[in-house]
Amino acid sequence: MKTEVLPAFAGENELNQAAIEKAGTLLRAGEVVAIPTETVYGLAANAYDGEAVSKIFKAKGRPQDNPLIVHIAKVETLSDLVAEVPEAAKKLAAAFWPGPLTIILPKSEKIPDAVSAGLPTVAVRMPSHPVAHAVIEAAGVPLAAPSANLSGSPSPTNAKYVFDDMHDRIPLILDGGSSAVGVESTVITLATERPRVLRPGGVTVEQLRELLGEVDVDDAVLHKLAEGVRAASPGMKYKHYAPRAEITIVKGTLKEFRRFLESKEKDAFVLCFAGEEQYFPRAVTYGEADDGLSQANRLFDALRELDEQGAKTVYARCPQLSGVGLAVYNRLIRAAGFKFVEAV
Ligand code: AMP
Ligand code: MG
Repeated sequence: MKTEVLPAFAGENELNQAAIEKAGTLLRAGEVVAIPTETVYGLAANAYDGEAVSKIFKAKGRPQDNPLIVHIAKVETLSDLVAEVPEAAKKLAAAFWPGPLTIILPKSEKIPDAVSAGLPTVAVRMPSHPVAHAVIEAAGVPLAAPSANLSGSPSPTNAKYVFDDMHDRIPLILDGGSSAVGVESTVITLATERPRVLRPGGVTVEQLRELLGEVDVDDAVLHKLAEGVRAASPGMKYKHYAPRAEITIVKGTLKEFRRFLESKEKDAFVLCFAGEEQYFPRAVTYGEADDGLSQANRLFDALRELDEQGAKTVYARCPQLSGVGLAVYNRLIRAAGFKFVEAV
C-alpha cells in the first residue's frame, strides 16, 4: 500500500479541508490514518469498528493486550463511551480538556474488545490539536488512536518520523507540523477506589492533586525503577521508546557527569541539556536543564536523532522528577531499559 502524506494546513491558521475530508472518508471506510495531536502523532481508526481497530495493531506490530485511547471532539461524547460519568471525570474534563489528559472509566457496550484489549474499562481523551479535532468531526465517530510509531520505537512528533515507521503500512498521513507537548498524554484511572496516575505526561501529578485532592501514582511508574537499580542488566522486556543505541542515565551534576565521561568510550554519544553540548564531541540535546516542558518537547526527537547519527553507546543527563520532568524521566528510563548509574 502506498502511503500518501498530505499537508493538514492550507495557510498559517487555515486547515486543508480537502485533506481533512479525505481522512474522514478513509476512516469511515474502516481505514487507518495517522494524524497530528498536541502530544504525539496518533494512528487513528473508527473506535466503534473492531475490524478497523485491529488494523492499527497490525500496522504497529502492537501486542494485542495493550489497549488504545479513544479520542473525542466534544465532552458530551464521553457519556456514549463509558458506563457512567462520575463527578471527578466532569471536573477533570472541565479543567484539562481539550488537552494532554486521558481518563479511564468502566466502558459502555459500544466499545469493542479490540479497543479495550478485553478490559472492562476504556481510556478517553479530547485532544486540543485543531487537525485532530477536525478529523474526528469529519469521521463522525470517536477515533481509537495509539502513538503512530512501530511498537517499541520512540513516539513520533512529526510527520517524517511517522513516515519512517509507517510507510507502505497505512494509506494516509496528515502532516500538521511538530507536536507541541512531545510526550504522550497523562493517563489517570477513575476506575479504582482512588484516582490513580498510570502514566505521567503533560498534565502533572501536582495539577491533578490540586484539583482532586488525593491522587495515587501507580507503582509501575516508580516501582520498575527500583528493580532497575538492583538489576545490573535489565531485560529487554522493560525496554520501550527505545532507539537502537544503548542508553545509560548518569545521575549527578554536570561536573560529575563530565568527570564520569572521561573514563568512557571515545565514540560514546551524550544526551545532554541545551548549552552543555560544548563539553562533548558527540552530543544531542534535549531541552533546557530544569525545564521539563522543553525536555518533553525534545526527548523523542533526540532519541531518533541519536539513531540517525549512528550512536551505539549513549550516556544521558538525568531530568528532575517533578512536574513534566516526571514524564520525561518515565520515558527516558524505559528508553534506557532502566539502566542508570550514579556519577559519584
Ligand atoms: P499509546 O496510545 O501508544 O500512548 O498507548 C495508550 C496507553 O494507555 C498505553 O499505555 C495503554 O496501556 C494505556 N491504556 C489504554 N486503555 C487503558 C485501560 N483501559 N486501562 C489501562 N491502561 C490503558
Ligand atoms: Mg505508544
